[in-house]
Amino acid sequence: MRLADDSVGAPSRRGGAGPSDHKAVTIDGRTFMVPVHTGPAADSPYVADTPAVDGSIALRRGGVKLADLAFPKAPRFYALHAADGTPYWKIAQLHGSDVLATTVLQTCIRYGRRSTSCQFCAIGESLAQGRTINRKTPEQLAEVARAAVALDGVTHMVMTTGTPNFSDRGAAILVESALAVRAAVPTLAIQAQCEPPDDPAWFRRLKDAGVDSLGMHLEAVTPDVRARIMPGKAEVTIEHYLQAFADAVAVFGRGQVSTYILAGLGDTREAILAMCETLIGLGVYPFVVPFVPISGTPLEHRAPPEPAFMRALLAPLGRMLVAAGLRARDIKAGCGKCGACSSLAAYETDGDGAAPAAEAA
Ligand code: SF4
Repeated sequence: MRLADDSVGAPSRRGGAGPSDHKAVTIDGRTFMVPVHTGPAADSPYVADTPAVDGSIALRRGGVKLADLAFPKAPRFYALHAADGTPYWKIAQLHGSDVLATTVLQTCIRYGRRSTSCQFCAIGESLAQGRTINRKTPEQLAEVARAAVALDGVTHMVMTTGTPNFSDRGAAILVESALAVRAAVPTLAIQAQCEPPDDPAWFRRLKDAGVDSLGMHLEAVTPDVRARIMPGKAEVTIEHYLQAFADAVAVFGRGQVSTYILAGLGDTREAILAMCETLIGLGVYPFVVPFVPISGTPLEHRAPPEPAFMRALLAPLGRMLVAAGLRARDIKAGCGKCGACSSLAAYETDGDGAAPAAEAA
């Protein structure tokens, strides 16, 4: 989507871990993260108008109004600073409409070398441009979480991390972060995200620290796509992930372990659905998300997937999830629950899986 005025609503996000270069947009009561700073967005036929006198914002295509939209307001906690002077918005950010998200460690052992880094990832970009700090301390995270709950009503928190080593793979810093946030705000549900740690005992440590749900992200599912797109992370085999998923579900429960799968990196629809079937059988929620070509990454010029490809994936996946009793709304915390980076939850219907109205438009 193109923006006639980027100053309206919460600031858009550039760089960082996970999907980025997007802005939170609310349409028909649902909040999505819509790419606005990517190459394809610059050519999008969809335009968010400047606000009308009454504050409404029209979404147009070819000048024709399609819908009214709104942008979630800039959260109040963004105006505050930590005791050490760091602005809160450099420690954690609002995602969607009610999620506090942070990258606890903004560096990654794999990042920056073509031979190992994930080609879609921009974890170093926001750090290089001074929009975040490298290591968010437990004290800083607790302070921001307390404020974000009190001032902006956030309901769950996502803690992701760059991979610091090849042993615990980030679980240790997530444990100390969760402990601090849980002590500060006992009601805030937490999702932790990391690569599968070497020792499954970390799952119990994470749970005991206050983590409610866990994300371990496959990203791509077929060996050649994994090797091409994420040569370093592909060394952690699919078999290792599947064992880690089984171990994690034993601790966190069915539906409280999830994985990101980026559609549009080269995996076929059939390959993604086959992997999803395996994951669902293990009790894992496969959060299938359209790939976003983030500026400054090696994949910035790769086209995002076509809407028809996403519909052909998400409609049967929604039916599979419903049949298995796994739904986004039952996840305690995290990306699957937020759902702003994919329309998957809209397909989790008991009906015939037809395209939701927003998708059909
Ligand atoms: S789905 Fe995850 S990455 Fe996307 S906005 Fe929600 S919390 Fe952030």
